[in-house]
Amino acid sequence: MQCLVCASAAKDLTPPNFDGYVIGCPTCGNYEVAGGAWDRFQKASKQERCAALDNAASLKGVARWPTIKNICF
Ligand SMILES: [Zn+2]
Repeated sequence: MQCLVCASAAKDLTPPNFDGYVIGCPTCGNYEVAGGAWDRFQKASKQERCAALDNAASLKGVARWPTIKNICF
């Protein structure tokens, strides 16, 4: 699959039965998009996606990777 932030070739790391998507990008690192934010993330501009990932990264805390949620936009 393609990274939705930088358009690099990325891996789909989504576990089965997971509400959302986990994307492994060689440039952006691993990040998760919550199921509830997926539509919004897809419709967002490239700049908005990039900003959302930055916000998610700053909110990451002890999680394994940033999670993009609606509050990140
Ligand atoms: Zn990327």
